[in-house]
Amino acid sequence: PSALDALAAGCSFASLPRGFYAQADPRPLRAPRLLHVGADAAARVGLDAAALDSPGFLALCSGSSRLDGIAPLATVYSGHQFGVWAGQLGDGRAHLLGDVQTPDGTLEIQLKGSGRTPYSRMGDGWAVLRSSVREYLASEAMASLGIPTTRALALVASDDPVVRETVETAAIVTRLAPSFVRFGHFEHWGHSHHEQKALLEYVVGRWYPECRVDGGDGMDAPATACRLLAEVTRRTARLIAQWQLVGFCHGVMNTDNMSILGLTLDYGPYGFMDAFEADHVCNHSDTAGRYAWNAQPAVARWNLYRLAGSLLVLGCEAPALEACLAPFEAEFLAAYRAGLARKLGLSEWRPDDAALEDDWWALLQTQRADFTLAFRRLSDADRDAGPWLSLFADPGAARVWLDRYLARRAMQGGDEAARRAGMDRVNPVYVLRNHLAQRAIEAAQQGDASEIDRLSNLLRDPYAERPGFEFYARPPAADAPAVAVSCS
Ligand code: AMP
Ligand code: MG
Ligand code: MG
Repeated sequence: PSALDALAAGCSFASLPRGFYAQADPRPLRAPRLLHVGADAAARVGLDAAALDSPGFLALCSGSSRLDGIAPLATVYSGHQFGVWAGQLGDGRAHLLGDVQTPDGTLEIQLKGSGRTPYSRMGDGWAVLRSSVREYLASEAMASLGIPTTRALALVASDDPVVRETVETAAIVTRLAPSFVRFGHFEHWGHSHHEQKALLEYVVGRWYPECRVDGGDGMDAPATACRLLAEVTRRTARLIAQWQLVGFCHGVMNTDNMSILGLTLDYGPYGFMDAFEADHVCNHSDTAGRYAWNAQPAVARWNLYRLAGSLLVLGCEAPALEACLAPFEAEFLAAYRAGLARKLGLSEWRPDDAALEDDWWALLQTQRADFTLAFRRLSDADRDAGPWLSLFADPGAARVWLDRYLARRAMQGGDEAARRAGMDRVNPVYVLRNHLAQRAIEAAQQGDASEIDRLSNLLRDPYAERPGFEFYARPPAADAPAVAVSCS
């Protein structure tokens, strides 16, 4: 048994009708090694070091045991992939182990990379170590940036071979979230009134009780669905604003990767930008650039429309649904501008700041300046512009923008030290750049998890500059080969 057994609290998803899932056992990794545990995630669940060290914990996280008395399952969903209806998908390589009761509320435990399920289609059910390290590090890095996300509790590796473009090895990430329900779960039941209503009752009952509208005999499904859609629209708009503000590109914003709770979900070929490029595409396979950085807000809105369409079956009126979607743009812009104002050290966003913003992005883009450092070094640029100017190939052009910006900032007065500290609290020094993740992956592939440890420690407090870690704040060397990432 693992210490998690004491926290096990059934499996709420299994209360849905039988068609929502299939019971499926994980396939255990052979000779599994616990490479790393997410200290924050573990603390959140209430697990101490001894519990994490126990054989029971490794057995659970490597797919060879269950939570006491709970049958693992895979859930079914559908979705739009790259703008095209893909039909049924589902947990093709993930197993829901059940719920645990934590100081933070009820969380689901899910293994990813734990073998085939009835929804695997052509896939092998495995995840390679490379993509598992990426998901593991990104989940915790995003959480530390204050961005809603699923969490990662453990990373387990094995020598089991997995064939991709080359032969790699298998790993499992143990993920935590209040729920892994996706837009795609609703899309799957978009033509089945009974099931859609059951899903709505389930989601609203557990995570959106304030959205529930009572009718004469039970829930008023159309009215409840509208309220839920409005709330998911709001959360999604805010989430994407947060992504934009750290230069995060998800890479595969298919509707099946969109969380109904507004969490960042399914880390595949994501990327934090180095040099700023508004139409940066992090996913090597996304040749059309559908999921470019500057396309993410519109794509999120498009995805919300697909979610809305799936609610029509409940008897919702299309205009009512559209009215719930309409605030997306305003919600997004409000969150984005408020966030940008904080990053720029402005106490409020004023209408004519839009020109300053446009010129900021244009400056970064033409000079391919580093996204993260361009913000970070701005806090001190009034005292010493040198480090900030050095990020630009043409410091003259940067100087022109800087002078305008400093003049704008000077207009607001206020305490300079507080302003500087405030900026440094929202502009990270360290983000999970691809080249850093790649170093950690390559070490892990040699059996050395120390780089994962170093990186995750650093990313736990990404705002605090640490002496000796200058390398981790820097973009990749100009002549370094780009790391190509796609789904794996
Ligand atoms: P993704 O692009 O990773 O979001 O996955 C899209 C769909 O493909 C989901 O239904 C996944 O469960 C499934 N899938 C991805 N990789 C595999 C794999 N190696 N084996 C089985 N199913 C997979
Ligand atoms: Mg079934
Ligand atoms: Mg996915």
